[in-house]
Amino acid sequence: MCELCGPADEPSIPVSLTAASNSVGSAPAGRPTVGRRAVLTGLGGLAAAGLAACGNGSGSAAPSGSARPTARRSAGPVADAKLAVALLGTQAGPLPTPDRAGIATALVVDGATYIVDCGRSAVTQFVRSGLRLGSVRAIFLTHLHADHVADFYTFFLMGSQPVIGLPGPIPVYGPGPAGGLPTAYGGAQVPTVEPQSPTPGTKEMTDRLTEAFAYSDNVFLRDTTTRDVADLSVVHEIALPAVGATYLNTAPVTSPFEVMEDDRVKVTATLVPHGPVFPAFAYRFDTAHGSVTFSGDTRETDNLITLARDTDLLIHEAVNVQGSVLQGANLEHMLASHVEVQKVGPIAQRAGAKQLVLSHIADFANDPLDPAQWQQWAKAGYDGPVTIGADLQTITLA
Ligand SMILES: [Zn+2]
Ligand SMILES: [Zn+2]
Repeated sequence: MCELCGPADEPSIPVSLTAASNSVGSAPAGRPTVGRRAVLTGLGGLAAAGLAACGNGSGSAAPSGSARPTARRSAGPVADAKLAVALLGTQAGPLPTPDRAGIATALVVDGATYIVDCGRSAVTQFVRSGLRLGSVRAIFLTHLHADHVADFYTFFLMGSQPVIGLPGPIPVYGPGPAGGLPTAYGGAQVPTVEPQSPTPGTKEMTDRLTEAFAYSDNVFLRDTTTRDVADLSVVHEIALPAVGATYLNTAPVTSPFEVMEDDRVKVTATLVPHGPVFPAFAYRFDTAHGSVTFSGDTRETDNLITLARDTDLLIHEAVNVQGSVLQGANLEHMLASHVEVQKVGPIAQRAGAKQLVLSHIADFANDPLDPAQWQQWAKAGYDGPVTIGADLQTITLA
């Protein structure tokens, strides 16, 4: 029985106690006895094992007919952390799986929440994590692939209900328009969706979503005390530094550049190479309590090494294609757009990251992935602690 799924009458342990471990699924299913000190120093492998042992690493719902709360109860303390990360969803790519929700991560800084990417089920996972929608300060999108934005607008659709307490407007930081499309793989002829504006950036995407949901918004405004969805977000498309980046040269050498700063965080970004996607960002959050760097979707790049220099926590994507049947365009996409888990350790090592967490992960040869195997792969070439992320897992840094 794990912290997330323990019976309601069992004293709960904050999920943060299970954070900095790395052997999900490889240890007995008994209640972890590891203490906070051991876990926070990366020695608590048993704890996260409990996450997987209950079959609820994805944050899947409690068994039918059970009224027991799950993550909301036990993850609550993370909402007030000085510096913590909640992995809302950890799945790479758009393929729905029963084990993982789409990529989305919440960073908590002195009780305020910053969301990085909003993949499938992000809003549900946010609530299940015990975080408060009223604490959301900003949303950051690394790029506009569907697996990163599928639940983006849902924050505002649901937030229009006053009872939700979503403050507004929420600043949204994301890519501007790509400005062009690459040729199709192998010279194939493919259709162009919306040819009059085929590369909308974050602003146009948001505006179009508002238009698409106009009837719902209009009728709720006339029938309830709902707020106008259009008033709940303010989009800031991130200006690119003058490094010659275009959709044909997506990630030239780039020094980290500032995205925003408030009373809790200073956010910098860099351009990362993610196949033909442009722009694609990695983000770094510096706070009074430490720093957290998000790779976004990327293959190996010195831009990320520079951004993540000496960061306290590097959250990096990874895929495994070894032993898979991927071939042709799909295999080339993986290798041009992502980092193989066997190669992620040296990235963290070169950056001097003090801790590595893998999220946005997929194993194309093993379903579900073997966390012990992934742990072994990811630790190759890296001296620090590694966590193979699971949904609703939290990492408390301060
Ligand atoms: Zn992705
Ligand atoms: Zn992507």
